[in-house]
Amino acid sequence: MAKNQQTKYVFVTGGVLSGLGKGITAASLGTILKARGFSVNLQKLDPYLNTDAGTLNPAEHGETFVTHDGAETDLDLGHYERFLDEELGRGSSVMNGRIYAQVIADERAGKYLGKTVQIIPHITNEIQHHVLEAGRGFDFHLVEIGGTVGDYESMATLEALRQFRRKVGAENVAYLHLVYVPYLEASHELKTKPAQNAVRDLREAGIHPDVILARADRPISAAAMRKLSLFCDVDEEAIVALPTVKTVYEVPLILERAGLADYVCKQVGVKPRKAKLDNWQKLVDLIKHPDHRTLKIGVVAKYMDNEDTYMSVFEAIKAAGWANRVRPEIHWIEAEQLEKVKPSEAEAMLAAYDGLVVPGGFGSRGVEGKIRAATYAMKHDVPYLGLCLGMQVAVIAFARSIGMKSANTTETNPKTKYPVIDIMEHQKGITEKGGTMRLGNYPCHLTPKSRAAKLYGEKKVLERHRHRYEFNNAFRDDLTAAGLTLAGLSPDKQLVEIIELSDHSFFMASQFHPEFKSRPQRPHPMFDGFIASALKRHLAA
Ligand code: GLN
Repeated sequence: MAKNQQTKYVFVTGGVLSGLGKGITAASLGTILKARGFSVNLQKLDPYLNTDAGTLNPAEHGETFVTHDGAETDLDLGHYERFLDEELGRGSSVMNGRIYAQVIADERAGKYLGKTVQIIPHITNEIQHHVLEAGRGFDFHLVEIGGTVGDYESMATLEALRQFRRKVGAENVAYLHLVYVPYLEASHELKTKPAQNAVRDLREAGIHPDVILARADRPISAAAMRKLSLFCDVDEEAIVALPTVKTVYEVPLILERAGLADYVCKQVGVKPRKAKLDNWQKLVDLIKHPDHRTLKIGVVAKYMDNEDTYMSVFEAIKAAGWANRVRPEIHWIEAEQLEKVKPSEAEAMLAAYDGLVVPGGFGSRGVEGKIRAATYAMKHDVPYLGLCLGMQVAVIAFARSIGMKSANTTETNPKTKYPVIDIMEHQKGITEKGGTMRLGNYPCHLTPKSRAAKLYGEKKVLERHRHRYEFNNAFRDDLTAAGLTLAGLSPDKQLVEIIELSDHSFFMASQFHPEFKSRPQRPHPMFDGFIASALKRHLAA
């Protein structure tokens, strides 16, 4: 690689506790570096022994984000894509299960013949290999390390990153450590001790941070910053205060004001450049606009306790809201509750919303409730947006409305008389759960004159998938004859990708997940159309 093409690596670790927003911080640094015209890649290294996020419980770990090339990844990849406005691939998400599986497979293949296979150097080398590969050709490669420093399972990863500095040269690496500075109500002060300890943990692993990012719920005083600098042995200008903010999209502006990108550039010997962040500032102004009218959007879902579970769906709804100059107020509607109550009560539960969304999901729990929601939206002309399972229940609701009373998906009822949603032939008999669904980008041809085609303004689109079940073609004629529009099909016309109702103000659903391609400044056309219709309904009421 020519000298001026040397990739610069920035590692972002976290201490004290999890949930401080390491992903947002890494993504935000990526944003302000990209705003300087640098090419940037982002990567997440997760210390769990899972191979990917496909089999992780979304209620615990948040949504599974799907990349264009079909990797089932951690939700931080969603932040990276939304902030960086780039499509990232499989190489951007590496869980330790993949690292270990590779090393063990190599051992069986005889790659280490005669050698003892060990965490150091074999696992650590494999980790470094993934970092080098992902960073190749970029000006900056930012790597976020999952978990908290001090976790037993991240030791090998930290050791790999410690060695990495020697491998590529100290002048090409910067280490950022995100810590928490708690506020003690009783004595009215911010305490830096946990942060100091967290930095000590990192140093014990042989890594001396170049920058400390200090998250705090209160403004950090100059005295506390000086204390952090002194005790953590980091320049004062390299201590960045990260206050709690109204919107995460403000974080790049905060990092910019703190001079973080310039400091990192200086650290790795890159000439500083001016950042163009006007668009980002515009976005934040739009988000914070006080005059925007509030729309009530109901999301009918199963996992209610954690917003992270539908992160991309929420972000897509919000982005469409900003573009339409409204503030969507998102309300959970518990699918299982909706399923249990009397029909009149279910109607009452659904009546308060300007629009209804049924996002993706697996298993039969709550499916009847979701079908009720789709039925309600259909009957009462409430804007409806269905995402993956949300399309499947919409098709079921429609089939039931034209007399196929027991219509269902075979995922819920394998013996239904009307299996309008069914498992694909090639999916039958698959027992291995990891990575075996229809995953990632597939082309979709939009039906001319359909609402979807008008919204997209295109004929052919690529969208991301994650499901096993599909629209059953055996019912295609009956359903379309009764008024269901197939607005998007696979190029060979065998797979139904989008359905809609033409005699409805907005009833649209897709087998794919449009939320993954939505951007804060460029909402997805389906979400955009949905929110515009919800607004119309709201104004008419
Ligand atoms: N469970 C359904 C399927 O596998 C829908 C999946 C989803 O919503 N992502 O087809």
